[in-house]
Amino acid sequence: MPRNVPLPSECAELDGLMRRHGDRARFRTLTRVDVGTRSLPLVAVEVGSDDERAPTMIVVGGVHGLERIGARVVLSYLRTVLEALRWDEPLRRSLEHARMLFVPVVNPGGIALGRRSNPRGVDLMRNAPTADSWESTPLVGGHRISARLPWYRGDEPGEVEPETRALLDVIGHHAFESERALSIDVHSGFGLQDRLWFPYARTRQPLPNLAELGHLFERFDATHPNHVYRVEPQAQAYTISGDLWDHLYDEYRRAQPSGVFLPLTLEMGSWTWVRKNLRQLTSREGPFNPKAPHRERRIRRRHFTLLDFLWRCVCSPAPWHAWTPQERAEAHQRAFARWYA
Ligand SMILES: [Zn+2]
Repeated sequence: MPRNVPLPSECAELDGLMRRHGDRARFRTLTRVDVGTRSLPLVAVEVGSDDERAPTMIVVGGVHGLERIGARVVLSYLRTVLEALRWDEPLRRSLEHARMLFVPVVNPGGIALGRRSNPRGVDLMRNAPTADSWESTPLVGGHRISARLPWYRGDEPGEVEPETRALLDVIGHHAFESERALSIDVHSGFGLQDRLWFPYARTRQPLPNLAELGHLFERFDATHPNHVYRVEPQAQAYTISGDLWDHLYDEYRRAQPSGVFLPLTLEMGSWTWVRKNLRQLTSREGPFNPKAPHRERRIRRRHFTLLDFLWRCVCSPAPWHAWTPQERAEAHQRAFARWYA
């Protein structure tokens, strides 16, 4: 491992936000990750109500060190929220009863080293202590063969990396008491289209909250009919073992059987950027990040409509609980026909 690695610009950006807005949000260092001579903080930022039962939106980025643009999208939204808090009365009021939790840079060591995994070679998105797939899973879905290969899950089942532990603990602490919670984890990968994935990742079976999830996206389609996303179960692309969101979803359900937690992953389609700039394939930052500054700015703001929509859902009780059993069964059937039939 190199001794001198540059400070990731995303860590510097987060530090700048803490200096400027430290009085408006609760910044907390969850753990530190050592890379060469550097010790990089893994930081969570909590905004709004500190009531443990408050509805919660969780926004996560930078799980994979090669997908830096994901961290930058999260940082951009965090900056907008913190600035708006100076003057935006409706936002301030909504935050009296609900909360946002940001973990913008989950894998600072991977970003510093320019690799997908953490510094120990573990793919954090394959590192959950449970959630093994029982369906046939390709190499990309996680393996324990060698840390030299991508998608490595770690040596021992049940053992988790410090970054994974920090993320699981902070979400457990802030969301497992909430009666409703939503999360969005921002990645950047192959393909031309921006995709929204939902659990399960380990199996092609539908998740127990398919009705609520289908209903959420029916509302999204109706409210934003020109949105850009393709919505699908993660496992439709490929199944994964050790997916953090599968694990957190199951744990939440154990802790809060009558509540609802909907974890989403935004997989930004980076091929459009590659197509427009082939040099990106050989970029030092890897192929999954836009190279041109104007393109980066466009992507930094592109998902604000989605994030605002998710926040309004978190703040609005009616869509989550105003169900008769009949309505819920019908919503389940529609969602099943949309994604699983
Ligand atoms: Zn990723």
